[in-house]
Amino acid sequence: MAPPSSEHAPAYPGFSVKYTKLFINGEFVDAISSKTFETLDPRTGEALASVAEGDAADVEKAVAAARKAFEEGPWPRLSGYQRGRILFKFADLMEQNVDELAYLETLDNGKPLFFSKYADVASSVKCVRTVAGWADKISGQTFKMDGPYQGMSVYEPYGVTGAIIPWNFPILMFVLKVAPSLAAGNTTVVKPAEQTPLTALYLAALAKQAGVPDGALNVVPGFGPTAGAAIAGHMDINKVGFTGSTEVGRIIMEAAAKSNLKPVTLELGGKSPLVICEDADLDAAVDIANVALFFNMGQCCTAGSRIFVQESIYEAFVNKAVEKAKKRVVGDPFKAGVEQGPQVDETQFKKILEYIESGKAEGAKLLTGGNPVGNKGYFIEPTIFGDVKDDMKIAREEIFGPVMSVLKFKTLDELVKRANNSMYGLAAGVVTKDMDVANRLARSFRAGTVWINCYHVYDQSLPFGGYKMSGIGREHGLHSILAHMQLKAIITPLKDS
Ligand code: ADP
Repeated sequence: MAPPSSEHAPAYPGFSVKYTKLFINGEFVDAISSKTFETLDPRTGEALASVAEGDAADVEKAVAAARKAFEEGPWPRLSGYQRGRILFKFADLMEQNVDELAYLETLDNGKPLFFSKYADVASSVKCVRTVAGWADKISGQTFKMDGPYQGMSVYEPYGVTGAIIPWNFPILMFVLKVAPSLAAGNTTVVKPAEQTPLTALYLAALAKQAGVPDGALNVVPGFGPTAGAAIAGHMDINKVGFTGSTEVGRIIMEAAAKSNLKPVTLELGGKSPLVICEDADLDAAVDIANVALFFNMGQCCTAGSRIFVQESIYEAFVNKAVEKAKKRVVGDPFKAGVEQGPQVDETQFKKILEYIESGKAEGAKLLTGGNPVGNKGYFIEPTIFGDVKDDMKIAREEIFGPVMSVLKFKTLDELVKRANNSMYGLAAGVVTKDMDVANRLARSFRAGTVWINCYHVYDQSLPFGGYKMSGIGREHGLHSILAHMQLKAIITPLKDS
């Protein structure tokens, strides 16, 4: 299918959406029901491609393929080194196909092409390589026990894993779940988000080309309450990983508990505080806050969505932040220089506009933005609210859009309490020249990641995950492989000891 007609979309010679079917047992197949759903172009709201719609029956088929691949296939029997080599090849193929992957990601998700290529695909390649490098370095321990026995601990894969992923970073979320699961020797069934199924299918084709055996990786596009629920509640899936809203995370955990008590890792919502202290370099602070909130159209679970600014610099900060937000280039994500594309879909678009209305109604001061951009697609102006109070909805709930809330604070003691007064605990940030203050705050924040004088800087070797209701478990590198393995104790008698 050709890219949709848009006056701005550049021609991509020979581009077409190649993969639109379910990927089960190494083949692209129709859904058992023959149903399809449309994935939309967020620039226009028009259909982009019809994708096979998997449901419980297809999940059943995918789990059966994954189970067979686990029990009888080569994948769990390969050494970590051999699995690592295949995953390195997968990463190489991603890199070789970066233009097409990035194009497809932008088409389906709406994020600027520059970011798709240099942030999403680049960090995804790194994720796969980091995990591939760990595949042959996982080992247990041996020791002499009391009496004539030797004890051994052995890391083993769980078996069949399930992954349910969101639409904000479709490629990255796919590899964050799939690469460690496969590196650990599991076989897996993935459900991409219904808004953005295209790159997951493309990645499945690359994984096959890299040598991932049939059945070891299965991708079932479909909807949450059908395909997603079938994964979470499946009796033959041994571990499930989920990234998405806290609300759905609770449903996943409940389904896991009610079925076979499969362990879950959850990466959920956030309402992360970013603290600007009065000694901060103001321009740097404004830049950091801008990235913290507006990156990826505000669609980041880690978004710095509560900007706490110390009273003495509040006015100066707000003026500069507004000036910067107004300069942000919103438009067709394929156009060079565009920093902000559309929100992913109409549901998100409407939800964000409702939050903007609620901010106004609750008395926050709308300093810039607040409206849709254009009359087609899901574009929203970069928006800043000042004078936000802790109990307002826009200060408590995750907006997942380009809406910055600025709050005033006086003292650090007061700040720490207010910053931690959230059910979430995914990330936090502080901008200050005083490293004593930075260190004190970094240790005080009840959050899984803390940025000092920067924001949205990630590395596959650092643990990533949430405190409180922002999640369970840690992802990235070694942490993510170990989250996909269980430990066995083996005891043998020792002669002549
Ligand atoms: P968002 O609100 O950002 O769309 P969700 O948490 O609703 O995020 O969705 C993240 C992923 O969870 C998607 O793949 C979605 O299809 C899936 N999902 C939604 N509802 C359910 C459910 N009841 N059971 C399992 N998966 C679900």
